[in-house]
Amino acid sequence: MSILSLKNIQYTYPLETEPVIKNVSLDLEAGKVYGVIGGNESGKTTLCNIMRGFIPELYKGTLSGDVLFNGKSISEYNIGELAAHIGYSFQNPFTQISGVKETVSEEIAYGMENLGVPREKMIQRVDELIQLFQLDDLKDKNPFELSGGQKQRVALASIVALDPEIIILDEPTSQLDPKSTEDIFKIVKHLKKAGKTIFLVEHKVDLLAEYCDEILVMSAGELVMKGKTTEILTDEKVVQYGGQLPQVTLYFLQAFGNQGKVPLTVAEAFSLLKGSE
Ligand code: ADP
Repeated sequence: MSILSLKNIQYTYPLETEPVIKNVSLDLEAGKVYGVIGGNESGKTTLCNIMRGFIPELYKGTLSGDVLFNGKSISEYNIGELAAHIGYSFQNPFTQISGVKETVSEEIAYGMENLGVPREKMIQRVDELIQLFQLDDLKDKNPFELSGGQKQRVALASIVALDPEIIILDEPTSQLDPKSTEDIFKIVKHLKKAGKTIFLVEHKVDLLAEYCDEILVMSAGELVMKGKTTEILTDEKVVQYGGQLPQVTLYFLQAFGNQGKVPLTVAEAFSLLKGSE
């Protein structure tokens, strides 16, 4: 059974006449990493907000169709409950810091405090997360003193602290430098190993090619492509839909056409070219 199912979702924002999400159906399997691409304003963020129950609860508007978490409609959960199952992090690390805690350790513990996690367990969990997110040197610092990449790691740690089964990341690296971006992707890899299901909206397709099991393509509110990373990110239709293909894949397609195997990464391209010598 899929962990999260969207069934015929259609959504219109308040005071709007046109739906921005049109007939989207989707099943997420537990433990997989899904990369989500598509043009600007194609509905990716709206879809994330539907999956975590913020739409329609907070944004209102008109939603039809069903969202099921472990087979049960998410409308049966309250938003706080749902946040413990479906974690969400978005692109701006600066606005994700609570502003009420003075150290990184306290910030990570904040969500757990709100959920009433026992103190002993909370301390142990914060320690684990500090190791995992490489925050040891920063744990006593004020979260506001951190760089963008460090803040994003703290924001993610606070979400992972609640041990959600699904983690939705909406362009988590869009404001980060390449090194901090790699750090976030390494964390994604670790979370996958820990059995989490990850829904990652991200433009950096070279990295998606490396880390995702499946790719979804959104265009004008519709889910227009969905499949294994190797199938989707070698298909030129992605570009027509406003998405991108990895650099090396585009180069290969231009140079050799869509004949035989098309590489997704530089390493794959090397071995293909070597094999054809
Ligand atoms: P993406 O994340 O792919 O850039 P969005 O989900 O942010 O796309 O936006 C999809 C569409 O919904 C866009 O046309 C956008 O203008 C519209 N939209 C987003 N937020 C709101 C809102 N709060 N009220 C009305 N329209 C909105």
